[in-house]
Amino acid sequence: MKKSYWSVALFCCCLSAAGAQQTDVQSVAGNVVEWRHHLHENPELSFKEYNTGRYVADMLRSFGNIEVVRPAETSVIGILRGAKPGRTVGFRADMDALPVQEETGFSFASKTPGVSHACGHDMHTAMLLGTAKVLSGMQEELQGTVYFIFQHAEEKSPGGALQIIKSGKLKGVDAIFGAHVIPNMPAGSIGMLPAGAASSSSDGFFLTIQGKGSHGSMPQMGVDPIVTGSEIVMMLQTVVSRNVTPGEMAVVSVGKFQSGDAPNVIPGKAELAASIRTVTPETRKLMEERVRSIIGHVCEANGAAYKLDYVLGYPAIQNDAALRELAKKAAMEAVGAKNVFDAPRLSASEDFSYYAQVAPTYFMIVGSGDGPPNHNPGFRADDSALLNGVKAEVRIILDYLNGK
Ligand SMILES: [Zn+2]
Ligand SMILES: [Zn+2]
Repeated sequence: MKKSYWSVALFCCCLSAAGAQQTDVQSVAGNVVEWRHHLHENPELSFKEYNTGRYVADMLRSFGNIEVVRPAETSVIGILRGAKPGRTVGFRADMDALPVQEETGFSFASKTPGVSHACGHDMHTAMLLGTAKVLSGMQEELQGTVYFIFQHAEEKSPGGALQIIKSGKLKGVDAIFGAHVIPNMPAGSIGMLPAGAASSSSDGFFLTIQGKGSHGSMPQMGVDPIVTGSEIVMMLQTVVSRNVTPGEMAVVSVGKFQSGDAPNVIPGKAELAASIRTVTPETRKLMEERVRSIIGHVCEANGAAYKLDYVLGYPAIQNDAALRELAKKAAMEAVGAKNVFDAPRLSASEDFSYYAQVAPTYFMIVGSGDGPPNHNPGFRADDSALLNGVKAEVRIILDYLNGK
């Protein structure tokens, strides 16, 4: 993401929206910073968020009217049932940290060597706790049900989202929202990702071509895995140019091709690996079919055996157009129109994409201020982004439940 794109001066502290709800949001300002610092100091890796899960569950219980369920060992869902009947909306925050040695210089830096919240999931968790606290104080006027989804293991395939979905605990949820902090956007600005594909899927393959070694002067006695692999690499270039509909986003990049040691030896095998990116389920399927077909047929034509491991990563996030509209209006009301802008599709992938199996989804981004990118040891999300995040989340949830 280029810095210049975000460098427009968008941020101002004033709020255009008033009302009781905003006052309540202000009342959790101190809490969210305190929670964020605690979480940041005590990061836990994917699938190991035991203390984090307990902390979140205890905090939700302390609000007094939130039912706590545990859909997986380290994840938590808080359910707030409004006094009036209505729809059910979910908001998801991920909670896991990364195996990265922190270099932020924060006074509340990680106390665990080699582990830190370098992707800002501490921010997501603190914001959603703040949102839960604000809304728990509004139960009497709440029209419908809110699921606060605190998800484990976003950073590690196969990801925590699938486990939560498989638990069946999200049954009956009508829409699911999520947010991610991104640097080099003014802290507290809200970026509305596009409708449709809002990230790319991240797939790939590992291939071993088994040929037959021979003397370089006697190629007829062997099966050359380098020639076979080269034909595969070249033919893969035709998938995007000849098979994918023009205008559809698709990438195949072979990033590894290793074989042989000497100029006069035809080696016995070659190893290739590739990254494959798409944004629609149809193109994703087409890519896999074509890649498998090319590898199989080229190897067969050359008399080579092969082992192919085709790896499906997270699919692309599919943002619902109506939810985007609602979220954009709500965000503008919550933090001021000047702080909300249209954001381009994310190049990264996210397991939030799986929630589209449950209900229509919308994923947005929250600016965390200047600094190094997510996953960098120096990634420094600014505390000042937290409150706008809560304001936007609260407004989106209320507007959805009120049928706006
Ligand atoms: Zn990450
Ligand atoms: Zn992340």
